[in-house]
Amino acid sequence: MKKIAVLAGDGIGPEIMAQALKILTALKLPLEFEEALVGGVAYAAFGHPLPAEVVELAKKSDAVLFGAVGDFKYDNLPRHLRPEQAILGLRKALGLFVNLRPAICYPELTAASSLKPELVSGLDLLLVRELTGDVYFGQPRGKRISPDGVFAGTEEGFDTMRYAVPEVERIAHVAFKAAMGRSKHLVSVDKANVLETSQVWRDTMIKVSKEYPEVTLEHMYVDNAAMQLVKAPKKIDVMVTGNLFGDILSDEAAMLTGSIGMLPSASLGTGNPGLFEPIHGSAPDIAGQGKANPLATILSAAMMLRLAFDMDAEAAAIEGAVHKVLSDGFRTGDIMEAGKTQLSTTAMGDKVVETM
Ligand code: NAD
Repeated sequence: MKKIAVLAGDGIGPEIMAQALKILTALKLPLEFEEALVGGVAYAAFGHPLPAEVVELAKKSDAVLFGAVGDFKYDNLPRHLRPEQAILGLRKALGLFVNLRPAICYPELTAASSLKPELVSGLDLLLVRELTGDVYFGQPRGKRISPDGVFAGTEEGFDTMRYAVPEVERIAHVAFKAAMGRSKHLVSVDKANVLETSQVWRDTMIKVSKEYPEVTLEHMYVDNAAMQLVKAPKKIDVMVTGNLFGDILSDEAAMLTGSIGMLPSASLGTGNPGLFEPIHGSAPDIAGQGKANPLATILSAAMMLRLAFDMDAEAAAIEGAVHKVLSDGFRTGDIMEAGKTQLSTTAMGDKVVETM
């Protein structure tokens, strides 16, 4: 029996999670689920977005299935109590240093993309993002009176961008291995023309590439990567980058596919349970209205079956059902187009179960 920590979170989290659980339950697998509160709902109930008990639950589980956290009503809380700290805290507690984000554009959804159909139809790109380092976690950081420069004596905010060589090495290995299993072409994104951190990143990528002679390594500056993603995204197969650039580029890659509501992700470490979640947030603007697209969460559950439990056939069954539902013309509002049938969040979950 595999134990799954189910953390639905805020906003649309509970609605989309209910659909993923419906699908996992329908497969009648040896899985047990334990649900817990995280994010704003955990802050409201326990005074902390990531209670210690939830971290313990996650650690003793075989995988974590995560919905989304965040609500603008908590935006004025001190940073360490904001809902988003739940996901950052879990990544840290579980040592999840890599985030795998496939961006797949189903031919049926090319009309939902903001790019021309021929640019995105059949797109299948894997973004490998470093998750626990970079300017998001680098110390020192804070607010202070500026000690020097043109604005000396005025208040300033500052953060520290840093990457240690072993930190880059471990993500490089994940990316090169992923490329080995695909087209053997890896694009590494940095800003080595300006940033020292990026120079260390680039040098380390080149060093690790010697261990993967079959993989062609290409370097791209982040500004060019942002451009290439909208110019010729199908030329990119596997892209690896740091935490900050990856955060931005992965949302850009998401939009190529038509909807942020379609994309799953996996966060993995070594020796700890992986965390599987849709890439979108808690979408407070549509929460509770039955408008949320549950497919990213359903596809995250499929990724969990494949990567955490080696249940390839079951993962493929879910992915196949999602594809069939789309080709049969069923849509949620975010990917709706003329001539298709619009379904609510729950009805979409039911349709996937029925098709499976
Ligand atoms: P968001 O991803 O929640 O929403 C962006 C837009 O996409 C909104 O218009 C929303 O309605 C739409 N959208 C998102 N998911 C959808 C779905 N499944 N189906 C249909 N439409 C969908 O990003 P945001 O509005 O910038 O942030 C909202 C909150 O989520 C914030 O508090 C933010 O911090 C948080 N957030 C959390 C995570 C996470 O939990 N991992 C990630 C990103 C943002």
